[in-house]
Amino acid sequence: MTVAVVGAGLTGCLLACYLARRGLDVTVYERRPDPRAGTPERGRSINLAISERGRDALRRIGLEDQVMADALPMRGRMIHPVSGPLDFQPYSHDGEMAINSISRGALNNTLLDAAEAAPGVKVFFGHRLTGLDPATGAMTFQTPDGPVETVADVVLGADGAGSAVRGQLLAHRDIEESLDFLDYGYKELTIPAVDGEFALDPGALHIWPRGTSMMIALPNPDRSFTCTMFWPTGGTASFASLSSPAAIERHFRDHYPDVVPLAPTLVDDYLHNPVGLLGTVRCAPWQSDGRVGLIGDAAHAIVPFYGQGANCGFEDVVVLDQCLDETGGSWSSALSLYERRRKENADAIAEMALENFTEMRDKVASPVFRLVKGIEHR
Ligand code: FAD
Repeated sequence: MTVAVVGAGLTGCLLACYLARRGLDVTVYERRPDPRAGTPERGRSINLAISERGRDALRRIGLEDQVMADALPMRGRMIHPVSGPLDFQPYSHDGEMAINSISRGALNNTLLDAAEAAPGVKVFFGHRLTGLDPATGAMTFQTPDGPVETVADVVLGADGAGSAVRGQLLAHRDIEESLDFLDYGYKELTIPAVDGEFALDPGALHIWPRGTSMMIALPNPDRSFTCTMFWPTGGTASFASLSSPAAIERHFRDHYPDVVPLAPTLVDDYLHNPVGLLGTVRCAPWQSDGRVGLIGDAAHAIVPFYGQGANCGFEDVVVLDQCLDETGGSWSSALSLYERRRKENADAIAEMALENFTEMRDKVASPVFRLVKGIEHR
């Protein structure tokens, strides 16, 4: 039995590790070069909050301790008003519950190492899927050496929000999809360590709620913070509305005054880091012809405000593995069962993530909200 996993992101690598345990012959195809060999893309570092759902998936395969060694637990939110004192809102009454700040790149590299080390797994970089016949499992990849044709018994699309596997299922009229882009984008800024120490409390997820927009910051093991601004993509409050260094500095002094002395590269980061898009992908069905399936963001990309996209992709892997157990390894039955179990949950978290945006950018700053707070962590 040969299985092709398209995409060596977080979901695809973890999936390859799980499938290897079943003794399957797994080939992972990734369009990009090996990320372990290059430097990360500017402004796309993204540290993720990994919660219990993600940890559970890592624990089951013996990777939790390795991943958590570089994680920084965040036990609550630290709200930064424009003026006045900071407000720490713990995630649990006993202060013990935490979400964990982890570098997406480092996590991906750990999972890649684990997948490559697993028996029966091969990983090909520089392979972009451009064609798929769902009925036969025949695939075409563009590579630096030209097109490559191959075939697998099972093809799993773990190729992210813009999934080419999903695109091929659409082209064969096997599924329907909807893509809803948010009219907000994101841009990263850096708060470096000061004299080798964290410039802010590393035990919290920092939030600057500003009504129509917000910024968050998560700690990194090198004692810096990665800040992510979520601002409108159009209108007078958009990223493009601030184009000169003076305007950027003025805006931050007025709206994020405590950040200015901590972010020496603020203007450079703002002018040169890219603006990322945010959106929700919904599609159905998630499988076709008893041999092709979608998993992770390829099946259900969501906006990041609940911090659950990667956690959900990891949970998909666990559930698909359980479905294979329960169906005696019948891919056709397992893929249908997996979709029945996961689709409803994916739809629910997609809605909750959209709702949490309003809460994070606005309601966390309100005294009333303090009574019902604390939700981006389960
Ligand atoms: P991806 O990470 O998109 O990986 C897909 C892979 O497929 C990539 O390597 C890509 O190069 C490859 N690929 C694409 N097309 C092809 C092709 N044609 N052929 C071959 N390979 C292909 N999640 C959390 O759980 N917690 C958080 O705190 C969190 N914060 C976030 C903050 C931001 C700003 C954003 C944008 C996202 C955040 N997420 C968070 C979501 C998380 O990053 C994603 O859910 C997760 O990365 C999805 O993993 P994936 O492997 O399914 O897809």
